[in-house]
Amino acid sequence: MTRVVQKYGGTSVASPARLRRVARRVRDAAAGAQVVVVVSAMGETTDELIALAHSVSTDPPSREMDMLLSSGEIITAPLLAMALEAAGTRAVSLTGPQAGIRTSRAHRTARIVDIVPQRVLDELDAGKVVVVAGFQGATEELDITTLGRGGSDTSAVALAVAVRAQRCEIFTDVSGVHTADPRLLPEARVIPVITYEEMLELAAAGARVIHPRAVEIGEAYGMEIRVRSTFDEHPGTTIRSVANANMEERQKVRGIAHETDVAKVTLLGVPDSPGVAASIFGPLADEHIAVDIVVQNVSHAGTTDVSFTVPESDLRRAQQMLDGVAKQVRASGFSATADIAKVSVVGTGLRGTPSVFAQIFRALAEAGINIQMISSSEIHVTCIIDRARVRDAVRALHAAFELESI
Ligand code: ASP
Ligand code: MG
Repeated sequence: MTRVVQKYGGTSVASPARLRRVARRVRDAAAGAQVVVVVSAMGETTDELIALAHSVSTDPPSREMDMLLSSGEIITAPLLAMALEAAGTRAVSLTGPQAGIRTSRAHRTARIVDIVPQRVLDELDAGKVVVVAGFQGATEELDITTLGRGGSDTSAVALAVAVRAQRCEIFTDVSGVHTADPRLLPEARVIPVITYEEMLELAAAGARVIHPRAVEIGEAYGMEIRVRSTFDEHPGTTIRSVANANMEERQKVRGIAHETDVAKVTLLGVPDSPGVAASIFGPLADEHIAVDIVVQNVSHAGTTDVSFTVPESDLRRAQQMLDGVAKQVRASGFSATADIAKVSVVGTGLRGTPSVFAQIFRALAEAGINIQMISSSEIHVTCIIDRARVRDAVRALHAAFELESI
């Protein structure tokens, strides 16, 4: 018999009515397959629990945070099991630890080390739908852990691998992975098939439909992932290793992503000598500030300017640190700006297709958009532009690669 894992995110289970709707979808799937369901906490529950913790403590211990946060998913799982039973489908709910999910001891950012899914398999064999609380597991000592924000996607794909499911379906509030953010660009289309690699690049470039860790696990174990909507019947996006059977017909560009949580820092007049970059980026790494695009200018008279991007949400911390660093490396000063954005073109078809670069720059030039920084890999090209021009840039690139007609 086919076996599938279905994951329903916070929006899909936000109310009793939505839980009943999910129960109907699960019931239909269970008519022809063994089904494991992984659920998130209802609506904004996780945020509310975090706020609650901070109302009693300025620095809540992370072990206690995990006990608290895991409760969100533990509410959803039995409620869905009850709704399923009420709809005439036999079901049982399990916590992450009961489902055999063992993790590292890193509270709030735990990693799954192993899954022993015997209980899940026994319940499936007994003819039940198994509803598992996502986002959580337990250490060897049976301390409860959570997997980091958005961790239910990771729970779902890991469980799919452990129970040898045919595929993992991620149900969310959009119809799939789009060629661009549909809130920004109504003409964006659902991408029918995308490779793990392209999905990871899109996620890194700002697309937030599925957690990248889940995609990494899918890629490592060859688990097919399908992203689709709880609220419509669209077949959604399939993530797998080969996007198109016909290699010659590959789409050059799969999608356009954008990110506005980005700021640019420039260190001016930095002495051009060995070790300087290490003194700038070492302290940022120690503070876990993710530096993205780095540009160093050609040096003049022994000094150079170094620019790089960081998340805008980390800019304040980065600035505090760079005050000291700028003095230490004897830079003549530094400046920071947050009115920028990142726009990225992603696709495995970019490999060995230099004309794509020209197409990108021409499209932006024709729209009158200035490119401040550029970075690229084999399968993406990212441009830093004025934040006010994001929509125009995404629209121009989307049109240049004819993504509205895929
Ligand atoms: N409830 C958790 C969060 O909001 C996990 C999840 O939804 O995936 O981050
Ligand atoms: Mg959530």
